[in-house]
Amino acid sequence: MTVSRLLVTFLFLAGCTAAPPTTPASAPGPVAASPSTTASPSTTASPSLTTHPAGESATPTPSATRTTASPSPRTTADQPAKPLAGRTIVVDPGHNGVWTKALNRQVPAGNGRTKPCNSSGTAGGDFPEHAFAWALGQELVARLQRLGAKVVLTRPNDHGSGPCVNVRAAITNRAKPDALVSLHADGNLTKGARGYHIIVSSTMLGGAAVERESVALAKDLRAQLDDTALPRSTYIGGGTALHARTDIAGLNLIKVPGVMLELGNMRNAADLALQRSAGFRRTLARALADGLTEALR
Ligand code: ZN
Repeated sequence: MTVSRLLVTFLFLAGCTAAPPTTPASAPGPVAASPSTTASPSTTASPSLTTHPAGESATPTPSATRTTASPSPRTTADQPAKPLAGRTIVVDPGHNGVWTKALNRQVPAGNGRTKPCNSSGTAGGDFPEHAFAWALGQELVARLQRLGAKVVLTRPNDHGSGPCVNVRAAITNRAKPDALVSLHADGNLTKGARGYHIIVSSTMLGGAAVERESVALAKDLRAQLDDTALPRSTYIGGGTALHARTDIAGLNLIKVPGVMLELGNMRNAADLALQRSAGFRRTLARALADGLTEALR
């Protein structure tokens, strides 16, 4: 399909870290995630390039026991059943279901900068970053809700285009959340480059205190991610898996703690195999939920 070919072409041009997501000003407002819309992705490994997320048919079954079933050394077993009760978390699944040229228009990115409304994201074979981010996001939303959190999504589905990155920041600020997590994967072509890293902004609207809280959140998330099969980045962060940047609109423009996660390199076969796995996405969601729980304790 033409759109697919256009998207594929663009994916090779637009690496994830080079162009974080942005959203159109006409985009809808925040999406309060409800249990009925946060079904776990199916185990289908290869969603369609154009529109389909990794599947959304399975209705999650709330279960008190599942919230404590973490194989991680830092389990949630000793925590109350609803450790995130009263907390609000914004989940931003990066990029869009459909990329069009309209997303190239410039929007404010913070610090007097501008950047494109949104980018296409990267891909691993026929598996686009936006579908990975959406599938992981659905898993994470369901888990956070089971832990008692109110969750707000920055985009309602994996079919549309937008919203722009600055609008996602506005959605975040409006929700007055305790934290934002923006979900991405990288597309680095360096041979052997793999692993995850966590981006923090050193120029946030919320100021130095919010920047410090964001770094603390990143470290709590890292502690959990280090217990998964996805290694720390071999090519960014010098082994710390942390990367401070000043060009990420979705972090620059927010007043609350937030991080952007690059959860593996889709151009690396080992990372891509993990990203394609519904089981591993559940592992990632559990790690992120546990990290958030620790950070907001
Ligand atoms: Zn991305």
